[in-house]
Amino acid sequence: MEKTNRQIVLNTRPHGFPADTDFRMVETPVPAPGDGEFLTRTIYLSLDPYMRGRMNAGTSYAVPVELGAVMTAGTVGQVVASKHDQFAEGDLVLCGNGWQEYGVSNGVGVRKLKLGVAPISTALGVLGMPGLTAYVGLLEIGALKSDDVVVVSAASGAVGGVVGQIAKIKGHRVVGVAGAQKKCDYVTGELGFDACVSHYSDTLEDDLKTACPEGIDLYFENVGGKVFEAVVPLLNEFARVPVCGRIANYNMTAAPDGPNLVPSLMQLVLTRRLTIRGFIVFDHAHLAPAFIKDVGGWIRSGELKYREDVVDGLENAVSAFQGLLRGENFGKLLVQVSDDPTR
Ligand code: NDP
Repeated sequence: MEKTNRQIVLNTRPHGFPADTDFRMVETPVPAPGDGEFLTRTIYLSLDPYMRGRMNAGTSYAVPVELGAVMTAGTVGQVVASKHDQFAEGDLVLCGNGWQEYGVSNGVGVRKLKLGVAPISTALGVLGMPGLTAYVGLLEIGALKSDDVVVVSAASGAVGGVVGQIAKIKGHRVVGVAGAQKKCDYVTGELGFDACVSHYSDTLEDDLKTACPEGIDLYFENVGGKVFEAVVPLLNEFARVPVCGRIANYNMTAAPDGPNLVPSLMQLVLTRRLTIRGFIVFDHAHLAPAFIKDVGGWIRSGELKYREDVVDGLENAVSAFQGLLRGENFGKLLVQVSDDPTR
């Protein structure tokens, strides 16, 4: 076994867009598992937008990563040494090693992966946290109703792609919002949405109006910013807005210029009887079995498709994460840290 464990630690807290120097690669000895512990080799590392929030100091729904600590992340790994009676060498697991090559665990929160259901990488994407987020946000928080016209932003991504496809499977008109034309083409072509508009368009609100001539009943909010502002006037009475993410704001260092939009938004909340409700996926773990049954079934039947964007090498994790914040990823962003023995 290699003697060193390469790790990416948080060096300084980013001010705005994360800089290369906010991170540092360090090498430490590979840790040895103690009694009741096991060591895993990271195969896939998941890069997710929420990690930007963990780089900030201060209170949020999760504790920040400490300076000098390994960046947090969900990972798929293989057990390489074990002193744990339920995890054996060779087991493939969903674990939380973070941005590093090896990690020790006592098994809490670690799940063994079944082979043959889907590629093991999907435990971090379509069959993992982002997929569950889509399922919870659309069905539980958004309370999808028959005849709803659904709009979802970041539509080609890990969450958005699943949101729109579930709504399509359930018979709805679905409109995506994405960036590049190739993403919009994928959303309508491969994923089967009815339309997709680009948030780079100068006529975003008109484009949305054309795509949603009868208004919007459910807007799955992933990005905030000008997309949210374009959607709000089109919301129908009793529309629901599950607020999943606001990626356009994650690097903001000051309030945006321009008029205060809160009074007009709250007036619409009142007069159109809107429900705008934030949610965090880990509060809804009870829906995981239903999610696995439904989404797993749709993947097996070919009704639900997914796309992964796999970047090779831990040393490329920082640039890949920066790319995620610029919309350069195309599908669920993963870093392949070591060989996948199942491929
Ligand atoms: P994606 O795979 O969709 O990647 C992020 C995408 O966001 C980019 O590819 C880009 O797509 C888009 N984006 C980035 N910056 C902007 C911007 N300024 N304006 C508009 N779009 C932008 O990520 P995920 O599917 O993993 O996450 C989607 C959202 O869900 C995020 O906001 C995330 O924080 C949230 N989330 C929330 C959870 C919860 O529990 N509430 C759990 C998991 C995720 P494009 O090129 O199309 O613009």
